[in-house]
Amino acid sequence: MSVRAILPGATVGVLGSGQLGRMFAIAARRMGYRVHTFSPDRNSPTGQLADREIVAAYEDLDAVRAFAREVDVVTFEFENVAHAATLAAAEHAPVRPDGLVLHTTQHRLREKSFLTRVGVPVARHRAIDSLATLRAAVAELGTPAVLKTAGWGYDGKGQVRIAAPEQCEAAWQSLGGAEAVLEAFVDFAGEVSMVVARGSDGTVVDWGLIANEHRDHILDVSTAPAEVAPATLAQARDIARTIVEALELVGVLCVEFFALHDGSLLVNELAPRPHNSGHLTFDAAITSQFEQQLRAVCGLPLGSTALVRPAAMANLLGDLWQHGEPDWAAALRADTVKLHLYGKGDPRPGRKMGHLTALGDGAAQARATVLQARAALQRRD
Ligand code: AMP
Repeated sequence: MSVRAILPGATVGVLGSGQLGRMFAIAARRMGYRVHTFSPDRNSPTGQLADREIVAAYEDLDAVRAFAREVDVVTFEFENVAHAATLAAAEHAPVRPDGLVLHTTQHRLREKSFLTRVGVPVARHRAIDSLATLRAAVAELGTPAVLKTAGWGYDGKGQVRIAAPEQCEAAWQSLGGAEAVLEAFVDFAGEVSMVVARGSDGTVVDWGLIANEHRDHILDVSTAPAEVAPATLAQARDIARTIVEALELVGVLCVEFFALHDGSLLVNELAPRPHNSGHLTFDAAITSQFEQQLRAVCGLPLGSTALVRPAAMANLLGDLWQHGEPDWAAALRADTVKLHLYGKGDPRPGRKMGHLTALGDGAAQARATVLQARAALQRRD
């Protein structure tokens, strides 16, 4: 069913205040919307660009209600918001995607059960709630395996690799005894993702497959389009459509895949919002993932997802500041390189501070350019 459009001049509320919200706010303000952001942080990446920054805990449901009363629609950029908060927001404004989508995707077991129910392939896994179930699951699935907390995990946080059965006890203790899932280790050929959007009228579009390289479990470099067989792209599209239709998603969602050696795909995880691997759409696509999120949640027609040129993105982590301020001018010497900084004050190691995007005549060239630009940031004095 189509909904009444929320038009420029209206106010969009964003739960969360990080870089995803910042880029969303840039897209929204460009199109004449007002933006309010809600999170526990002050002077946040999103707040710096929003019309209003509301600082309160997600558990403060009265504050969430007050925030929702002031906006025309609520969306989010951070998925670890408790279900109670999205329900409180929904008392006063439409929440898109629906809070139930968050509820499913913020918990690895609920997410895997959902994927299995709709016929989407995932890695072999078992639910774990004690050391005994962990030992039994390791005996069944074999090693190596990966133990992950069921809730609130991202960027490899809350996960530990089990190389041999004797490591069960230490692994279980390191996760603090929280409800968890054990996954068989996937010997993948590569990792790819698909960012997909679904409009309020049910239209589904995607930006093709993006190739992702991780370092220390954190996304490092993304390249688009990914070099894959047509059958792999078709499988990804089919899976992405199945997921957003089953979730009745209105908004943007990223499907992260393991690409196996035979060209087939397993879903690793879902994020019901724009994703780090889709940042390159900001500079390389006719419509970025952020503008598309805005169009979807406001009930507007979706824009073209065509890439204007092949592109690559490299993340800039706090580690780059180790020897002082990076050499921004050096990175910008290649004239297709775009710099994005998130306005975060404290460059801690591992913290996502910004990214570079480069466009190229081909994906490999774009990747080489962005890596060269990032290398040039480090002063050698
Ligand atoms: P996640 O937070 O679950 O996305 O995991 C972060 C990264 O860890 C993934 O992108 C993979 O590189 C790696 N990883 C996670 N789970 C597995 C698995 N079952 N097999 C192999 N590698 C994994």
